[in-house]
Amino acid sequence: MSIKFFINGLLDVFFPPLCVFCGCFDEKSLCKNCRKKIEFIGNSCCKLCGYPLNKLNDSAVCDCKVERFSFEKAVSAAVYEGSLKDAIHRFKYYRKKVLAHAFSRLMEECYRNFIKDPVDFIVPVPLFKKKESERGYNQSELLAKNLGKFLGIPVRNFILRIKDTASQTKLGRTERRENVKSAFQYQGPPGMEAKVLIVDDIMTTGATVNECARILKEAGNFKVYVLTLARGVKQD
Ligand SMILES: [Zn+2]
Ligand SMILES: [Zn+2]
Repeated sequence: MSIKFFINGLLDVFFPPLCVFCGCFDEKSLCKNCRKKIEFIGNSCCKLCGYPLNKLNDSAVCDCKVERFSFEKAVSAAVYEGSLKDAIHRFKYYRKKVLAHAFSRLMEECYRNFIKDPVDFIVPVPLFKKKESERGYNQSELLAKNLGKFLGIPVRNFILRIKDTASQTKLGRTERRENVKSAFQYQGPPGMEAKVLIVDDIMTTGATVNECARILKEAGNFKVYVLTLARGVKQD
């Protein structure tokens, strides 16, 4: 038995691999049962904004084209509902940073399957500094860092949040756009030319990620894609 194997065996005895959702023993950080409860979006989504098509009430097409997004394409791993929604709450508001690893694996699958144009950099949506120090971390940055490691893509903080915006949760589509207006500033190198992936935990109408994409495109020659862990489906 090699030393490495022995040590790994010992580590498994003292720190057995657990599912981060339910706490059961499993080599994967997300067990089969918990995975089954997540509503993955896969291919049946709007090709522009990633909205899951089975969540549209009566129309067969997503109406996002009226939005004129600044990004090329947005994709999300799963619907922001049920057990995933609960887990994201624990991740953001109850300091369960351990969830970032499993979440980023889901995002990695989504990137590999649906972003066919390899990006140069991953850029997390920033938090306002005060909010980040209150929370102790930026959840999107944690996701971005894990994802960057899995994909071998560098993470860059090209965007700074300069306005402490109100929570978007209770706002409608137009109000969300207004709310994030002038909330961000470009802080990357001047005259950049690159393909980037903006990473966030949740996308609903896309107002926040769109404003980030707009800032990037204003500052340099950027091609922008968006990847979020979850997609909120209650729009109005
Ligand atoms: Zn589980
Ligand atoms: Zn759409």
